[in-house]
Amino acid sequence: MKPRAHLELRHDPAPRPEWAKRRGPSAYDLAKVGFFLFGLPRNAFGSIDVTNRCNLRCAHCYYYADGDDALPAELSADEWVSHLEQLKRSSGLKLPFFNATWVGGDPLIRRDVIERCKPFFRYNTVVTNGTMPLPNWPDVNWYVSIDGDEEAHEAIRDPERRYRKNGGQGIYRRVMENVRANRHLRITICSVITRANVGSIERVVKQWYEAGARAITFDFFTPIEGLPNADLWLEPEERDRAIDTLLALREIYDDFFVIPERALRLMRSENCLEVTSNCLLRDRSFSLNASGEKKGKCVMGDDADCDRCGCVAPFYLRSLTHRPMILEDLGHSASRSLRAAMSLFHPDSLAGN
Ligand code: SF4
Ligand code: SF4
Repeated sequence: MKPRAHLELRHDPAPRPEWAKRRGPSAYDLAKVGFFLFGLPRNAFGSIDVTNRCNLRCAHCYYYADGDDALPAELSADEWVSHLEQLKRSSGLKLPFFNATWVGGDPLIRRDVIERCKPFFRYNTVVTNGTMPLPNWPDVNWYVSIDGDEEAHEAIRDPERRYRKNGGQGIYRRVMENVRANRHLRITICSVITRANVGSIERVVKQWYEAGARAITFDFFTPIEGLPNADLWLEPEERDRAIDTLLALREIYDDFFVIPERALRLMRSENCLEVTSNCLLRDRSFSLNASGEKKGKCVMGDDADCDRCGCVAPFYLRSLTHRPMILEDLGHSASRSLRAAMSLFHPDSLAGN
């Protein structure tokens, strides 16, 4: 299906530098073949709230929806090591768990824990607001959060302009400097699309491509009971229009986009409820709170509204295992390759026209 969105900006991305290009299939790609053939193993993916603390306190943050008094105590690094060892023994897994996503609060406040515990997992993803220096961990996937373009980001992340005091720069520029200075790391920009920033999707893709991020991904805002900002949620038809924009941009920026086209199609209004009612994140992954206990149905906790969920994870996981869609896509790419090959033998191309 061809994207139908009309793009407002001119997009003419420079070729990707060598360091940013994907080189052949990774071990992760091979694992995806296993997911396609055998389904997602239980507890292959999980999230760990490694800290309650954050140097920002954004109004929309699900983590603080129940107030500070409801936050669990944090484990020490030693306690995390013994807890993960115990979990590994009890789960009967001989190999490390597949992928841990370190979240919070801002996980870089507890880098001591991540450093000690990342060897438990084959892949590690750290989700940070990008304002603190990034440790030089080339084995980690970095997810740096951005909430729209500079104006939208500052409005939601730093409404009191604390970062601009004494002539200092805002958060957005600080994050961009951090990303530019760490191009050798695998940095993905992740942006939550809300009613407040939906108009800036094109600018965000363009700016972060030019800033040298390796990749970009998007979620949509999910309403959480207890947070007074459900109006950030996009109605289904608005969300579909935003998805059309993402699909159109994906055609141009290609593998800069982490989200497969399949996952975006699953997010459309005609498909999304079927995916979220059978959420693979809820059914197949684990989420641990800062005390190491299993938390609600997913990383966002029990108060997240599944029917209006905009988290990309359930759609991504479904896209890895939805055989009819995968086969349909393989069929399309095979016929595209065949058409391209056939065009080489067209009399016009032989004549060099
Ligand atoms: S930076 Fe992230 S973790 Fe920190 S308050 Fe904002 S949304 Fe929450
Ligand atoms: S809120 Fe979304 S990710 Fe969480 S359990 Fe519900 S559908 Fe799954």
